[in-house]
Formats: sequence, structure tokens, C-alpha cells
Amino acid sequence: MAEGVAEERAERERSVAVPLTGEPLPLELVNTTYIKGGVRGRRMDALAAGPEALDSWLAAERHRFAPGVADALAAAPPAGPERYQEFLELRRALRALAGARTSGEAPDPEALAVVNAYARTAADWRELAPGPEFRAVVRRAVEDPLRLALGAISAAAVELFAGEGAERLMACPAPGCILYFVRTHARREWCTVGCGNRVRVARHSRRAREGDEAG
Ligand SMILES: [Zn+2]
Repeated sequence: MAEGVAEERAERERSVAVPLTGEPLPLELVNTTYIKGGVRGRRMDALAAGPEALDSWLAAERHRFAPGVADALAAAPPAGPERYQEFLELRRALRALAGARTSGEAPDPEALAVVNAYARTAADWRELAPGPEFRAVVRRAVEDPLRLALGAISAAAVELFAGEGAERLMACPAPGCILYFVRTHARREWCTVGCGNRVRVARHSRRAREGDEAG
């Protein structure tokens, strides 16, 4: 029994250990689905285990959010099924838009509508606080920490796809890879060292085979 629980926990931890991190938040969410094992590999989903997996992911990414949102997330109750479905919906939309953005296709109107709807929940503004002193307070369109996170990721996506530097958004060109990254330096060709190595090994064995055939 205890062993089963430990195994289950290990499985969860492994499933959250995605191959690529450190990208802008919208890509971090998109990259929770990835292929393990290259061309003949299998599709993995770090969020597949349900709302708990989303909680783990948010805990790992919390420091990437603006302080107001990060603080709210730190105090957030566990994600319920509704917010979980919303994150999956946003992830699907972001993956569709990242695909369109990197292949030069027009964005899917439904995916745009999803991201734009969530982007509105990122809205905040300053108001004068009630009371004798003149003091400004920040008000937000929503208070729910997970909805704040959905809004923050969507607002970041608007910047990622349409802002300065959108040209540096890349789909990893390695066969059997579905990850996206921002080319932070001109020589970055692959999402990870792992993909670069895999492609080099494949090239090398192809050349060796062709060499054998020629000889
Ligand atoms: Zn890759």
C-alpha cells in the first residue's frame, strides 16, 4: 500500500519533469506535452494526471509570474476540475497559435478567441482606496488566483506572438519533437541539447550507412 503511494508519487514527479523549461510562460504551458523517445517515441503529458498535476506545474512555475499573481498562487487552494479544463483549453489554443506563428499560417479564429477571452482576465487598474488618506490600490478583473494565472499566461502570449521578438519563436526542427522555444541566441538550433545530439547521431549513422553502400 505504502509502496503503491510512493510509486504513484514518483510517477507524478517524473511526469512533471518536462524536457524543456525556462521559456516564456505560454511556451512552458504548451511544452507540458512532448514526445519521449524521438521519432518512434510516445506523446507525454505532464498535466495528464489531473488538477493535482496542474498544481505541481503552477508551483514549479510560480516564480515566473509577476509578484501579485505569484503571491496569489502561493496562497491558492488546490485547482478544481473547472480551472483544470480551462488550462487544458488554453494550452490547446496556444499550441495551435504557436504552430501557425512558426509556420507562417493564419491563426485559427477559435484559438485566438480562447486566448483573447483569458487575456481580459489579466486586466488590472489603480483606484483610490476608501478612507481619509489618498492612497492608490490595485484592483483586478478577477480575484481567483488560477484565473489570474490564466490571464497572465494569455497576456504574455499576446506579447509572444505579436510583440517584438516574435520572429525568434521557433518550433524545434528535430524529427519527432513538438516543443517550442524562443531563440535566445543566433546559434540556438534545437529546443534542448538532447534534440541536437539525437539529430547529430542520426546524421552520422546515415552518413556511415551511405558510406558503406558507396564502398
Ligand atoms: Zn526538440
